[in-house]
Amino acid sequence: PISTSDPIEDHRICVCVRKRPLSKQEVAKKEIDVVSVPGRGSLLLHAPKHKVDLTKYLDNQLFKFDYSFDETSTNDIVYRFTAQPLVKSVFEGGMATCFAYGQTGSGKTHTMGGDYSGKKQNSSNGIYALAAEDVFRLLKDRKYSSMGLLPFVTFFEIYNGKVFDLLNKRSKLRVLEDGKQQVQVVGLQETYVSSASDVIKLIEMGSACRTSGQTFANSNSSRSHAVLQVILRQKSRLHGKFSLVDLAGNERGTDVSSNDRQIFMETSEINRSLLALKECIRSLGKNSDHIPFRMSKLTQVLRDSFIGENSRTCMIAMVSPGMGSCDYTLNTLRYADRVK
Ligand code: ADP
Ligand code: MG
Repeated sequence: PISTSDPIEDHRICVCVRKRPLSKQEVAKKEIDVVSVPGRGSLLLHAPKHKVDLTKYLDNQLFKFDYSFDETSTNDIVYRFTAQPLVKSVFEGGMATCFAYGQTGSGKTHTMGGDYSGKKQNSSNGIYALAAEDVFRLLKDRKYSSMGLLPFVTFFEIYNGKVFDLLNKRSKLRVLEDGKQQVQVVGLQETYVSSASDVIKLIEMGSACRTSGQTFANSNSSRSHAVLQVILRQKSRLHGKFSLVDLAGNERGTDVSSNDRQIFMETSEINRSLLALKECIRSLGKNSDHIPFRMSKLTQVLRDSFIGENSRTCMIAMVSPGMGSCDYTLNTLRYADRVK
């Protein structure tokens, strides 16, 4: 049930939730669907009666967000209510961020990057591609076509507090902060793009780099944040920037006490960056001067997107519907609930 009304255009912070359908495997395993979307913006987590620890889930829990999307919602619909209004703000000289948050397997990459069914990624129907199409549509729009705006793309990942350039052989990059508090990712490749299909090609190239990286043998993409930025320049001056972030999986628990030092470090870093992100978005909402962006590499790199009048952000919290994911789902909903 999605409302037929138009997206609210003047949200500074928009927090939404998206439920994916049960997968074929989950249906085969007779997984119970414990999530429903009873109305616009609301999401209900049903108390799993069969759960042993009933004290934790005595009641159904209702959450309210700006928008909620059920399992029948398409990427197009989700895009229209989340990232699309932000594209326009970037043309108006704004800074925008859109985050996909949730446990591994909840649909972050599906939403951002497109459909992964089959070996090869079809990036043409994810938010990345839809946003790219709108960027090129607006560049031709009468309102903006005379401004001399040029679009560039960067694509990088943050893994274990380190930045890797996905458009340049996954080379490791340094992050520097100058005296004027400008944060710079030194040597980050900024590629000029002349069409939406250019952008899609870069995404496919970068995504392949992300999962097959040599030094990545013991982990996978769910432990890193992937950041795609579309930058509009006027002459060489920065006009606006849109950062689209496929966040690392937020699951924790057993991992935190892991004896494996590598996993322990990764998990702590992910938890720290997701906590920092929440704090930074909250500061943005309160128009606060103090933005704790130094708490993590992710927020440090996105610093310029959290400051100023023209900053806007959208978070899409993804949830899996199955009872087996109930704990993670509750974590995700609570996090999203506190962002605003
Ligand atoms: P994540 O990136 O959060 O780990 P994925 O995007 O890889 O999760 O999604 C996990 C699986 O669920 C994939 O096979 C994906 O195609 C499928 N999936 C996710 N969201 C949807 C959806 N809204 N509709 C259909 N399938 C989905
Ligand atoms: Mg993913």
